[in-house]
Amino acid sequence: MSTPPDPGNRNVAIDGPVASGKTVTARALARELRFLYLDTGAMYRAAAYLTLSEGIDLDNEDAIVNLLARHTIRLVADESVESGYRVEIDGHDTAMRLFDPDVAAVVSSVAALGRVRERMVAAQREIAREGAVVMAGRDIGTVVLPEARFKFFLTASVDERAKRRHAEFAERGVLLPFEEVREQIAERDRIDMTRAVAPLRAAADAILIDSTSISSDAVVARMRAAVEAAG
Ligand code: C5P
Repeated sequence: MSTPPDPGNRNVAIDGPVASGKTVTARALARELRFLYLDTGAMYRAAAYLTLSEGIDLDNEDAIVNLLARHTIRLVADESVESGYRVEIDGHDTAMRLFDPDVAAVVSSVAALGRVRERMVAAQREIAREGAVVMAGRDIGTVVLPEARFKFFLTASVDERAKRRHAEFAERGVLLPFEEVREQIAERDRIDMTRAVAPLRAAADAILIDSTSISSDAVVARMRAAVEAAG
């Protein structure tokens, strides 16, 4: 594995379970602080998308690692799209296909593979070398940027998170029963928290924020206050 970037940086790590509000708050915070923004979940989604497209078995780690070596996944900043970035695979825009339910259903299995994670973590650390970054994911404060100056762990109840994800799907015209969305979220949490490599957990020095009943603006304000208080 690559070594983490130097300490003494102003990097911000935001971790948390599915639909806890990481990406929306990370993006807004990065914009306010004028830091780079990286949604690491999109990188794992791109890996899962490629795996599905090629019909590779989810437990065939060799084949998946091989596949990733043959393709280039890039996140390109783009303020004209809602997410703030586009994901390109070999230079082609993947549009919003990475956020489809079929990708969501398999991404945690692909992300549980140790050698897939090694590649992703190395790429994420490279990006952090380019400048101060707000990075969102599952293992940013614990593994990718353990020296990050600011670490936040976002939570929200499963029901609230399922409500948010259900509404996001509906906005994109994907109509799924609420229970199905709730079950998928609970199952992804289970895989993410119990995997052998880099399981989802809060870093010991992370600030915990429960967003169940506060707006994402309030979460961003709290994060920004913590960053600014540190000077
Ligand atoms: O954040 P998002 O829901 O898009 O992430 C998709 C999946 O990618 C997660 O459920 C998790 O399995 C995986 N992931 C990860 N480590 C990260 C970011 C995402 O394992 N740093």
